[in-house]
Amino acid sequence: SLHLINIFSIASGHLYERFLKIMILSVLKNTQRPVKFWFIKNYLSKQFKDVIPHMAHEYGFDYALITYKWPTWLQKQKEKQRIIWAYKILFLDVIFPVSLEKVIFVDADQVVRADMGELYDMDLKGRPLAYTPFCDNNKEMDGYRFWRQGFWKERSGGRPYHISALYVVDLEKFQETAAGDNLRVFYESLSKDPNSLSNLDQDLPNYAQDTVPIFSLPQEWLWCESWCGTATKSKAKTIDLCNNPMTKEPKLQVRRE
Ligand code: UDP
Ligand code: CA
Repeated sequence: SLHLINIFSIASGHLYERFLKIMILSVLKNTQRPVKFWFIKNYLSKQFKDVIPHMAHEYGFDYALITYKWPTWLQKQKEKQRIIWAYKILFLDVIFPVSLEKVIFVDADQVVRADMGELYDMDLKGRPLAYTPFCDNNKEMDGYRFWRQGFWKERSGGRPYHISALYVVDLEKFQETAAGDNLRVFYESLSKDPNSLSNLDQDLPNYAQDTVPIFSLPQEWLWCESWCGTATKSKAKTIDLCNNPMTKEPKLQVRRE
């Protein structure tokens, strides 16, 4: 069907705005369906805001700039990176118009190689969120898979630890199950400890899985160099640049290859 696909993303800084433009084009290149992009505007540069209407016109997509005022009662974040992460996950129920049924988050530094319509239409089995579990086929990284030990192993109850670079939100299910309130309650208690939620946007939904269930997407929906082996790269439907805890190599270096 030619049903609209809604995608949201967030970017700050020249580099990530460049990545974001590449992501947009990669989505459009792989679908026949109309696409609307929702950008969280907090950190977008004037340059980007000036250029986006022209891009929309030229490539034929719709877009909206959105934000939500940080609630006074909610634990604040000081670092920009953590504020960005917070906007990825904390306000999903209030940042979009109530009429929006579904939205897919795509990291700015991700390249899409499949029809996002397929992901948009996927049956999430009644769960409000859908994420891809971390790959386990890059064996070199076994020592860095923190979710296989200690706290996260205990917490998971056998469920996968998912990566937050791409996810689907069934906004109707999300509202119906008060997932936004539930996530903010977990956030409020966890964020009192500055050592918890070290990857806020990823740790929070993984931590809350018991209350806010996650549908685990097929592995090919997210491939990233750091965690996935080269054997599965050709099947990847999206490729994310993700930090490598072993090499800490700058992202531009990786993209140039
Ligand atoms: N981001 C950004 N500017 C930054 C860092 C991050 O806009 O300086 C946004 C951007 O959308 C990016 C997302 O936050 O895709 C996640 O950050 P990153 O991709 O660096 O994390 P990783 O995928 O390595 O976990
Ligand atoms: Ca990324």
